[in-house]
Amino acid sequence: MPEGATVLDACRALGIEIPTMCHRDGVPHFTSCMICVVRATGSGRMLPSCSTPAQDGMILETDSEPVREHRRAALELLLSDHLGDCEGPCRRGCPAHMDIPLMIRQIAAGELEAAIATIKADIALPAVLGRICPAPCEKTCRRRQIDEPVAICLLKRFVADTDLGRGAPFVPARSGNSGKRVAIVGAGPAGLAAAYHLLQQGHACTIFDEQEEAGGAIRREIPEAKLPRSVLDAELDVIRALGAEFRLGTRVGRDLSVAQIRAEYDALVLAVGPVDAEAACVFGVKATKRGIQVDSHTLQTDDHAVFAGGGAVGGGRMAVRAVADGKRIAIGVDLFLSGGPVSGAIERFNSVIGRIRDEEKQAFLAQAVADGTVTPAGGLESGFTDTEAACEAGRCLHCDCRKPETCRLRRYAEAYGARQARFKPAERRLFEQVVQHPDVVFEPGKCISCGLCVRITEQRRAALGLAFLGRGIATRVGVPFGESLADGLKEAAKECVEACPTGALAFR
Ligand code: SF4
Ligand code: SF4
Ligand code: SF4
Repeated sequence: MPEGATVLDACRALGIEIPTMCHRDGVPHFTSCMICVVRATGSGRMLPSCSTPAQDGMILETDSEPVREHRRAALELLLSDHLGDCEGPCRRGCPAHMDIPLMIRQIAAGELEAAIATIKADIALPAVLGRICPAPCEKTCRRRQIDEPVAICLLKRFVADTDLGRGAPFVPARSGNSGKRVAIVGAGPAGLAAAYHLLQQGHACTIFDEQEEAGGAIRREIPEAKLPRSVLDAELDVIRALGAEFRLGTRVGRDLSVAQIRAEYDALVLAVGPVDAEAACVFGVKATKRGIQVDSHTLQTDDHAVFAGGGAVGGGRMAVRAVADGKRIAIGVDLFLSGGPVSGAIERFNSVIGRIRDEEKQAFLAQAVADGTVTPAGGLESGFTDTEAACEAGRCLHCDCRKPETCRLRRYAEAYGARQARFKPAERRLFEQVVQHPDVVFEPGKCISCGLCVRITEQRRAALGLAFLGRGIATRVGVPFGESLADGLKEAAKECVEACPTGALAFR
């Protein structure tokens, strides 16, 4: 190694991956985050690899359990004082985990084609759900803690109705044909959603239902005034356009045996609505008091080619839960068909702010319309006009982080299994949002004091730059002399945003 090389340089030269947050090539080291530690095997000492000189003959552990535990503890200390939501509270409250904040920003920007693609990534029947969903996402919406929740469900309906009204509604792309065939029993929301996602993954789907028309309980039980059947039919057409084959008026177990289906198809999805033990027996799967017995995460039964969801597993009456089950089933079936372990959807790490305080409300409202919720002038049944939807979208607080996929704190918290609640701070910081820069938002609560932005603005000889302000544990990063963020970042905004390992400095 060249003179002055560090342990981090040596590890990288050998292809050994070391996590780093406060390190950046070409910027003097500062050694604050302690995530890059390695362990000297002889002495057992933990050494920060970014600042320890590499020496001949060093024997180091770079990924042993003590090293991992040290990194985990370093992350958990940072997280204990971290104030941010990786995902918006609305998204965490949506059973289908739809990216609601992104949809709302797209509506506000008038990008309705992008908004329908966002919705349809997770929701198979958005115009239907936009009319009948009890909106658990609105119960968790942060705006509710200030005045009224954002009318998420009506906004979703607005986008879905606009899309259906265009004559050629959005149909998601399909992967190449996998050659696999899936039988789905039940054409209610869980079965339809499973087909919707499986078709996109390239699997052929046949949906069996004893009724002559698809839709299950939604078609049978919801009044026409609340859910016009033309809306349901239009969304069924989208699933047909994806390639679903419907075999309606066909009762499995009477018109067609389960054995026949098993012989013809590679996997079977049971979305048959509530079932008792006897009915489960027809499908050859075990039942509990609630319904068909499944792994609660993957929805796979003990017969590995069979999955079940919605009312069949006692999933309750909420259609959005059934639609969410259909999506989860599709993830499991796809893994099963590709021969991999059926592990289900990946659980992401999520930093969570929780309840906000009265004195924080203004800071949350910094970029949102302050007015109360918009009521459609034509009544709830008619939905939002373009202008009303844009106004309502403007009420959203943008609770989700601006860097959820590139944030290193989140990535390493996932990799090391760090928990935010392990160390409790005596008092949590107050939420702040610095928004005077035209392109950049600074959220001090997400700053881990890595000092990268401070050193970069120093290197660029910025007239003002960023600096550590205050003393001791109250030290914070900010713009000196109370000047604005626009002045502090005048010379190096882009570089600082790219270098910031968290969402503390981010483009709008
Ligand atoms: S900065 Fe990282 S950990 Fe914090 S909220 Fe954003 S993505 Fe999550
Ligand atoms: S204010 Fe917006 S981002 Fe925040 S929870 Fe509500 S809808 Fe989601
Ligand atoms: S704002 Fe600056 S000091 Fe804080 S985490 Fe980002 S780069 Fe590091």
